[in-house]
Formats: sequence, structure tokens, C-alpha cells
Amino acid sequence: TTPARYAVVGRPIAHSLSPRIHAAFARETGIALTYTAIEAAPEEFEAVLAAFVAEGGRGLNVTLPHKERAFALCAEATPRARAAGAANTLTWTGGGWHGDNTDGAGLVRDLTERRRHDLRGRRCLLLGAGGAARGVAPLLLDAGVSELIVVNRTAERADALCLALGEPARARARYWDDLDALGDFGMIVNATSLGREQSRVGLPFGLVAPGHCLAVDLSYGEAAVPFLAWARAAGCADAVDGLGMLVEQAAESFQRWHGVRPDTGPVYAALRARADALATA
Ligand code: NDP
Repeated sequence: TTPARYAVVGRPIAHSLSPRIHAAFARETGIALTYTAIEAAPEEFEAVLAAFVAEGGRGLNVTLPHKERAFALCAEATPRARAAGAANTLTWTGGGWHGDNTDGAGLVRDLTERRRHDLRGRRCLLLGAGGAARGVAPLLLDAGVSELIVVNRTAERADALCLALGEPARARARYWDDLDALGDFGMIVNATSLGREQSRVGLPFGLVAPGHCLAVDLSYGEAAVPFLAWARAAGCADAVDGLGMLVEQAAESFQRWHGVRPDTGPVYAALRARADALATA
């Protein structure tokens, strides 16, 4: 029998680590599958999905810039995908696509299980209101943060995100210009795609609650360097990049497709070693 087909679709996709992660999970669990990377422009997305199904494809991970489009074409979706209005995990049911969003669960699992942080009761600042921010916001509330303040360059998107969360007492949007007046936070999540531009943004150190603030950048590699450097300089107790989240969201997708939760430890350790070697090269 031919192995079941899976893939990640996005643009750009050449540097995606997902094929490597899913191949490692497959080896570890003894499940036969193929997992490739498919480049698709927005206008090609539906056609790429149709061709994938016609060739026997079973499931897709979806990344930038297609997550919202992916959600829109799902016949069914999980509550967390609906809350995000975005899907990163598509499963072909035979008659249509089922959509899930594993980003938020991946982030929370990395922080609470791998790094043993307790998120309960923390005042949380979420920078950004794009696809990734929408994926993680509902799961941060579920994880028990006391307050979620969302700040985004385009204020309307932060408003829309908070409205969709439906918890006006805990989740509120604020303006970027007001960052100085928001008090301090026990957790700061960078879900913008600022990357190298970050150094020009200048976040106030006063956002960091002395002694116990956890800083997280959802990106990894070069893109995470400026925010994490800021976080350390500002006195954050821990500064974490998005590599663990990436591995954990993949494990959530893998479990949905194959009914088995892989051990993420070895894959994470290998990717971490490689990322650290590149950073110090
Ligand atoms: P989107 O394009 O959907 O959103 C980008 C966000 O960044 C928006 O909030 C946007 O604000 C903001 N932004 C972009 N440029 C600037 C700027 N110059 N100044 C201020 N704000 C800016 O991207 P995603 O949400 O999908 O991804 C965001 C990040 O999260 C990326 O770095 C991505 O790699 C990472 N990610 C990591 C994952 C993981 O598993 N580790 C999973 C998913 C994403 P505006 O609304 O005003 O445009």
C-alpha cells in the first residue's frame, strides 16, 4: 500500500520545518506517511487543495498567508478554529474539509509542559492581531490569564479580535501609542511579524513586571532575536522563542490525523541544537 499523503501549504514554504518534524514523528511512531511542502499563491490555494485531494491527500497544514482562507472553505471546524477564524490543520473527510487550529494549544503546551510556567493569574500583553494572535488568544484565556490586553498597529484588528473572544471583562484592545500607560505585565507575547524591524519600535521597559515576567516571541531564528534581546534587557525572567510552539502545534495536528501523540522531546532537542548553532555561528 502507498503511504498516506500529507503536506504543508504556504508561501514562502521552502524553509518550513514541518516536513522534517512530521517525518520524525512518523519514524518515532512507526506510521507510514509522506509529508511534503507545497508552495501556493493565494489565487492558487483552492486549486492546490483540489489537486491534493485528487491525488489521495488526507491532511494539510496551512501557513501564511492562507489560514483564513482555509478556515473559510471548511465544512466543519473545531471551536478553537472558529474562535480564531483561521485554520492551520485541514483534514479531508471524504466530502469536505474539517478545520482545526492547533497554534494556541501548541504555544500553551510548550510554555506549561516543556517549560513548566504557570500562566494562571498573569496579566498578559498580546502584541499583534494577525492570524497567529487570533489563534493563541482564546487558548491564553483558557489557560487562565487574569487579563489579556491586545495591542496592534492597525487598531481595528485588535478591536475585532477582542470582540470575537467575547470576554469583555478580561480581553480588551488598547492603542500602540498607549503602551506607556498600560502598567506592567506578567507575560508579553509578540505575535507581530516585526522581526528585524523590532529594534526600531522601542517597547517601554515599564511593561515588564519585575522578577516574574515571561516573554514569548512566536517567531524563531533571526526574526526572534530583537524582541528576545529587548525582553532580557528589560528584566524578563524568561524569554522564549516560537520553536517549541512550532513542534507542539505539529504534534497536535499529528494526533488529529493519526490518533497518536508523538513524543516531541527528541525533535525539539534536535531543532533547538541546530537553531542555537546557527545563532552562534
Ligand atoms: P500576519 O501577517 O497574519 O500578522 C502580522 C502581524 O504583525 C499583524 O498584527 C501586523 O499588524 C503586525 N505587523 C507587521 N508588520 C508590522 C510593523 N512594521 N509594525 C507593527 N506591526 C506590524 O502574520 P501571522 O499572525 O501569521 O504571524 C505572526 C508571527 O508569528 C510571524 O513571525 C510568524 O512566523 C509567527 N508564527 C509562529 C508560529 C509557530 O508555530 N511558532 C505559528 C504561526 C505564526 P497589522 O495588523 O497592523 O498589519
